[in-house]
Amino acid sequence: MSGVFADVQALVEELGRTVVSEYASDVDEKARFPSEAFEAFKANKLLSAYVPEKFGGHGLSISELCKLCEILGAYCASTAMIYAMHQIQVACLVHHGQTSSWFQQYLRDLVEKQFLLASATTELGVGGDLRSSVCAIEKNGDSFVLNKQAPVISYALDADAILVTCRAHADAPASDQVHVLVKKEDCSFAEIAGWDTLGFRGTCSSGYELKSKGHCDQIIPAPFVDILAQTMHPVSHLTWGSLWTGLASDSVHRARQAVRHAHKRNPNAPPVSSLRLSEVDEQLFSMRSGLYREIEEYKTLLAEGNPDAFSNFGFSIRTNNVKLRCSEMLVDIVGRALMIVGIMGYKNDSPLSLGRHIRDAYGAAIMVNNDRIRGHNATMQIAMRERS
Ligand SMILES: Cc1cc2nc3c(=O)[nH]c(=O)nc-3n(C[C@H](O)[C@H](O)[C@H](O)COP(=O)(O)OP(=O)(O)OC[C@H]3O[C@@H](n4cnc5c(N)ncnc54)[C@H](O)[C@@H]3O)c2cc1C
Repeated sequence: MSGVFADVQALVEELGRTVVSEYASDVDEKARFPSEAFEAFKANKLLSAYVPEKFGGHGLSISELCKLCEILGAYCASTAMIYAMHQIQVACLVHHGQTSSWFQQYLRDLVEKQFLLASATTELGVGGDLRSSVCAIEKNGDSFVLNKQAPVISYALDADAILVTCRAHADAPASDQVHVLVKKEDCSFAEIAGWDTLGFRGTCSSGYELKSKGHCDQIIPAPFVDILAQTMHPVSHLTWGSLWTGLASDSVHRARQAVRHAHKRNPNAPPVSSLRLSEVDEQLFSMRSGLYREIEEYKTLLAEGNPDAFSNFGFSIRTNNVKLRCSEMLVDIVGRALMIVGIMGYKNDSPLSLGRHIRDAYGAAIMVNNDRIRGHNATMQIAMRERS
C-alpha cells in the first residue's frame, strides 16, 4: 500500500464514519443528493482520486479506488454508488482521453474544480443494452448537437458534466457509437420520469429528455466499443461489487452486534444466532474473495497494456460473474443478517435497522439487469474453448 493511499484511505474512513453516516438516513428518506458528503469529498480532492499525478490527481490504482468504494458502501450505499459512477466516467477519460489535448486539460480542470461526472447510456427504445443507441450526434463544422431520451440519469442535476453514448452520425448503425462529454451549462433537462424507488434513493436517478451542444473535441477519441470493453464494463462491475461488499459487510457487522448483545445477556451459553453469524460471514468471505480476485486480474491487464486482452471471453465472463454473484449474494447476506438481528433489524428507527440495507440490496441485480448479463455469459460460454 502506497503512503498516499494510506492517507486517502484513513480520510475516507473518517468521512464515512462522520459526514456520510450522519446524513445517510436523511438522504434515503428524502431521496435527495448527498450534498454534505460530496462537499467534503470535493474539499479533500477525492473526486480526482483516479486521475494520474501528472494532471494533479492522487493517481490511485483500480484496487485502491475499489477499496474506497467498499469503505463508503458500509456507510451509505447511495453516496458510494454516486462516487463509483463518477469514478467510472473518470476512468473512461483517463484510459481513453489522454491522446487529446482537450481531455488532458479537462482532467487538469477536473482536479482543480472537482467536477462531478454523470452518465447517460440507458435510452428509451434500447433499455439497458449499452451497445445500442437510438440517438445520434449531429455535427456542424466544429460543433455538435446531441439529444437523448434518457430514462435514468443518476444525479444529473448535481453533476458538472454528463458522458453520453450515441450513434457516431445520423446514418450510423445502432452499434457504431461514440462517447461524448457534455457540460451542464450546455444542457437542458426536461424530466420524463421521477425517482421514488425502494432503494438507492439518494442517487436521484430521474429520467430526462436531454438536449445538449458542444465542440467536437468533446467526443472521446476512441470508439465506444473499446471504451466499454477496456474500461466501462470492468470498472463498473468492480466498483459496484466493491460498494455492495461494503453494504454487505455493514449488515454482517450489525448482525454481529446483535449476537454480542445476546451473548452479554446470557454469557453461559453461546446464542443460537452465533452459528448463523458464522454462516453469513462465510458468505461475505466468498463475495469478497471473487471480487478481489477479479480486481487483481484487471489491475494486471491494465499494467500489461494489451488492449486485446480485455475482449477475451474468459475475462468478460469473470467480470460479469462479479456483478452477478455480488448482486445476488448481497440480497442473501442482508436477508440472513436480518434473521439474526430480528425485530431490531426490521424496525426503521433502531440503531441496528437493516431497512435501508435491504432496499438498496435489491437494486443491485436490476442495475443492468442480471438476466441480460447472464444472457451475454451464456453466449460466450458456448463459444469459449478454454477451461474457466
Ligand atoms: C440505482 C440505479 C442507477 C442508475 N443510474 C444510471 C445512470 O446514471 N445512467 C444510465 O444510463 N443508466 C442508469 N441506470 C440504469 C441501468 O444502468 C440499466 O440500464 C437499467 O436498470 C436497465 O433497465 P431495464 O430493466 O428497463 O432494462 P433492461 O436491461 O433492458 O431489462 C428489461 C427486462 O428485459 C430483460 N432482458 C433484456 N434484455 C435481455 C437479454 N439480452 N437477455 C435476457 N433478458 C433480457 C431483463 O431480464 C429485464 O427483465 C441506473 C439503474 C439503477 C438501478
